[in-house]
Amino acid sequence: MTTTFLLGSEINRLAEVLTDRTRIVFFETPTNPQMEIINIAEAVKVAKAAGALVVVDNTFASPINQSPLEAGVDLVIHSTTKYLGGHSDLTGGVVIGRGELLTPIWTWRKNLGQMMAPEVAFLLMRSLRTLAVRVRHQNDSALAVAKFLQTHPRVKRVNYPGLPDFPGHNVAATQMSGFGGMISFVYDGDAAATAAAVDKLKCFTIAASLGGVESLVTQPITTTHHGVTPEERVRRGIADSMVRLSVGLEDAEDLIDDLRQALD
Ligand SMILES: *Cc1c(COP(=O)(O)O)cnc(C)c1O
Repeated sequence: MTTTFLLGSEINRLAEVLTDRTRIVFFETPTNPQMEIINIAEAVKVAKAAGALVVVDNTFASPINQSPLEAGVDLVIHSTTKYLGGHSDLTGGVVIGRGELLTPIWTWRKNLGQMMAPEVAFLLMRSLRTLAVRVRHQNDSALAVAKFLQTHPRVKRVNYPGLPDFPGHNVAATQMSGFGGMISFVYDGDAAATAAAVDKLKCFTIAASLGGVESLVTQPITTTHHGVTPEERVRRGIADSMVRLSVGLEDAEDLIDDLRQALD
């Protein structure tokens, strides 16, 4: 089995890399951490023409903001550790799709022993009851935070699909009903200066997860992309001074004040 990797920005090459042996096209949108937007319906059209199944990781958007199944995707996966759980107190995952595709997955799951413990399932079910209000609040706060970051002189670039001048905005506006709580930005400074600014944040906790009620911050080169070589990071557009935010349920003004004092 071979896998061909494309960057989010290379999605226009999808048709040319598909062969008659391609079984699955797998992607996330928005992507981590650049927040690039893949046109789901377009990717489905190209993949279907080549006879491939389409699987989308919808964790960043959450089911409140994006419904890939409606765009023709075959299987949708979520890390329930993130928005669905929403309180940074459980780990889990879900795969959603047609019964015929789920049956073999169900069998593998059973044989591998992937059973969620009862209290974890209980926490997840409780959390799902507030998913919509949590996500809508996070959508609103993230947009306010992203707009603030755009005005800050030490911020070189803001990646947030809700910003009208973000490259993926128009596609996001057609396939998302909200733009989510995840933002990344590039600070005007080297890796150390960026780490120093991140360390000054008080409302954002430094942690690699996302989607919870508490706002989190990471510098991708020290966490999610630590194992990626510097050359490969450059190719993927992950700057040393990139910062990723997961906007929680705190008052947006408090988050903005905190970012202001840290970045100044
Ligand atoms: C965290 C994450 C995962 C992995 O989920 P876990 O529950 O941590 O195993 C997969 N996809 C995305 C987009 C994530 O953010």
